[in-house]
Amino acid sequence: MKKLFVPEPVSGGLILSYKCSTECKHCMYACSPKWKADWISEEDAEKILSQLSGKIQESPVGRDKIGLNTGLHFTGGEPFLNFKLLLNVTQLARKYEIPSTFVETNCFWCRNDEDTREKLERLKDAGLQGILISVNPFILENVPFERTERAVSISDEVFGENAITYQEFFLHHFRQLKIHSTLPFEEYLQKAGSGILSYIELILMGRACYKLGRLYRKYPAERFFGASCREELTRNWHVHIDNYGNYISGYCGGISLGDARDLSSIREIDLSQKPILDALITDLKEFYELGKSFGYKDLSEGYIFKCHLCIDIRRHIVQQNDKFTELNPRELYQYLK
Ligand code: SF4
Ligand code: SF4
Repeated sequence: MKKLFVPEPVSGGLILSYKCSTECKHCMYACSPKWKADWISEEDAEKILSQLSGKIQESPVGRDKIGLNTGLHFTGGEPFLNFKLLLNVTQLARKYEIPSTFVETNCFWCRNDEDTREKLERLKDAGLQGILISVNPFILENVPFERTERAVSISDEVFGENAITYQEFFLHHFRQLKIHSTLPFEEYLQKAGSGILSYIELILMGRACYKLGRLYRKYPAERFFGASCREELTRNWHVHIDNYGNYISGYCGGISLGDARDLSSIREIDLSQKPILDALITDLKEFYELGKSFGYKDLSEGYIFKCHLCIDIRRHIVQQNDKFTELNPRELYQYLK
């Protein structure tokens, strides 16, 4: 029997739901306000957190410090859309002694100082160690920059050095440009010049392939043949577990390795039951041929990256049938474009 061996996770994120207050052009997980409000149940969160206990490694500078690729973060979608749940999962993480915990937010909710401070202090009291504030030109399209500024300054007071701004470059750049409100991406590009694109730490996956593809050079599918995704799909750091229990590695939104509510079931995956995974870890050419057997037609303009080819084929297959358990959550494929 052909098997895929997946190491235990050492850091990652818990996706509380894919529902977001906004629909960023670069979102790897195709989050949007349109998603169903399927928040993770507290029962499932407890099952998952109890199994992550003892596996998640602390930041190299201590269990009460945070880092982008260490510890455990609560994410989405936008976790502050369900503050009560965020508070409860934070308490659960403390109960199971998970180190270096933080929340990732787009700051849409930071409408005034009092409410912002109160929420952050309640989270800290519940055991949360820090916060990651997302700052980039895509969030700026929908979240007024004054809210981001508020979140940064109050988070600094509440969490000190455990308040991370990602990307700090854009915080300074938006200040330099004296932005206070929202700004459409095209206008930002005009103000900043297209050279600014090289400063965006962008992973060309998910929605970015469709919404930002025009900014990048494209290649025919054959260019990506010969590549295997074994490394990404068996990565043990910065994995994600979503509200449906899907175990996602390598930022590969829409590919489920299995049900993380039984983490031990993901250690050895029987590939005869998972032909999509089997093809992806073998060669993208094999995956392409699988797509062709379902009637997939190449994009005439080509693909910006291997993940563009991959997600376009997956999107096609999901539209044809529902037999592949690896292609989950299926709703993700509806909100890519
Ligand atoms: S990138 Fe973040 S803020 Fe933007 S849609 Fe995705 S989850 Fe929401
Ligand atoms: S090609 Fe597909 S499986 Fe490979 S890293 Fe990209 S999204 Fe993941």
